Amino acid sequence: MTYQNTLEFATGLDEQDPLKDFQSQFLTPKHNGKDAIYLCGNSLGLQPVTAQQHINDQSTNWKELAIEGFFNGNDPWLGYHKKLTYTLAGILGAKNEEITVMNSLTVNLHLLMVSFYKPTNKRFKILMEGGAFPSDQYALASQARFHGYDPKEAIIEVFPREGEFTLRTEDIVKTINEHDDELALVLFSGINYYTGQFFDMEAITKAAHKVGVYAGFDLAHAAGNVILKLHDWDVDFATWCSYKYMNSGPGGISGVFVNEKHFGNKELHRFEGWWGHREDQRFLMPPVFEADKGAAGWQVSTSPVMLLALHRASLDIFEQAGGLGALRTKSELLTGYLEFLINEINKNKNEELFTIITPKNKQERGCQLSVVCKQNAKATFNFLTNNGVVADWREPNVIRLSPVPLYNSFKQVFEAGQILAASAGKS
Ligand SMILES: *Cc1c(COP(=O)(O)O)cnc(C)c1O
Repeated sequence: MTYQNTLEFATGLDEQDPLKDFQSQFLTPKHNGKDAIYLCGNSLGLQPVTAQQHINDQSTNWKELAIEGFFNGNDPWLGYHKKLTYTLAGILGAKNEEITVMNSLTVNLHLLMVSFYKPTNKRFKILMEGGAFPSDQYALASQARFHGYDPKEAIIEVFPREGEFTLRTEDIVKTINEHDDELALVLFSGINYYTGQFFDMEAITKAAHKVGVYAGFDLAHAAGNVILKLHDWDVDFATWCSYKYMNSGPGGISGVFVNEKHFGNKELHRFEGWWGHREDQRFLMPPVFEADKGAAGWQVSTSPVMLLALHRASLDIFEQAGGLGALRTKSELLTGYLEFLINEINKNKNEELFTIITPKNKQERGCQLSVVCKQNAKATFNFLTNNGVVADWREPNVIRLSPVPLYNSFKQVFEAGQILAASAGKS
């Protein structure tokens, strides 16, 4: 696609966009009485218009059915979570039974590590990307400590080469091989939150398996953003949150993937709770735990129905959009357009004011572009905010901009580009 830096061109792309009507299914916050240009779906997705109705429906069920709501009504709470797994299985590239929804992300990371991080005195190290989201760093360090190891020794981080911003797959694979007899686990994000780099999850998984360890992924920034094939890539386990690209509300329900090849493995311990017990016998309250089939056996507590209802409001929209295929096609065009507009600013000013540190290759990124501002970074960010662009600031000088194909238009991206151009050089 040859892009043009004109409003006409942008609105032309909107007219041809088969997903253009989905914007009206979301509620956009206002700036000075007008819809803001919301490019912050990487942190918190927008509210679906139907979210309120889904909450009201469950509130009514609670009012009218009370305890009977678990078993009766249109949407008995007992099996409610299963209505989500079909759509999620499509989004994650998994089989239905490999997916369940439960808890929140960091909690699930811990629960999955209970099963998949089994250190021994010879093999106790975890390999992860350098500069991972802090919660993941804390979780992994505390897991190492919990098993009696010093995180400084137990955690191996892979960093970009000198002068580079993102990781090379060859360097990740090489580091895995270098530590082949000391590793207990490889745990990576799917997309790094800071740079927006989408890792080659299949290659990482393969390399982990080659040295005999499990590969797990935190998909907070990948789920609902890029096409994932967890089952086909032979990933062992994964978890994600639903409040970023899956628009299911602050603190929304998380999900987990467990590869079906692990279902029968009695060596995998887990922290058990009654919601993971076989569903057909859960209410017989037997004294000994027997895991439900598949990932559902990792559930611990009663499902939070209100959070599930919010998740469903959003997943229904993914379903209407035909899953991730069409969304991803638009996403590549939309983010490509933003990239073009940012590069135009540098060209017109004859100076590299903005450096995009996210990979240029579309296969190695999702919606997000992370932009290093060479001058007056904070002033640039404030200028965007004051002009109705909701972006996201990361210390020391990075602005994250994420056009989301479900609710952002090419016109909005064009306007954000105009505002960014007007900000250039401001102090
Ligand atoms: C957003 C994010 C989190 C947040 O975890 P919560 O438990 O949902 O608060 C964790 N890890 C990564 C990589 C994230 O992007």
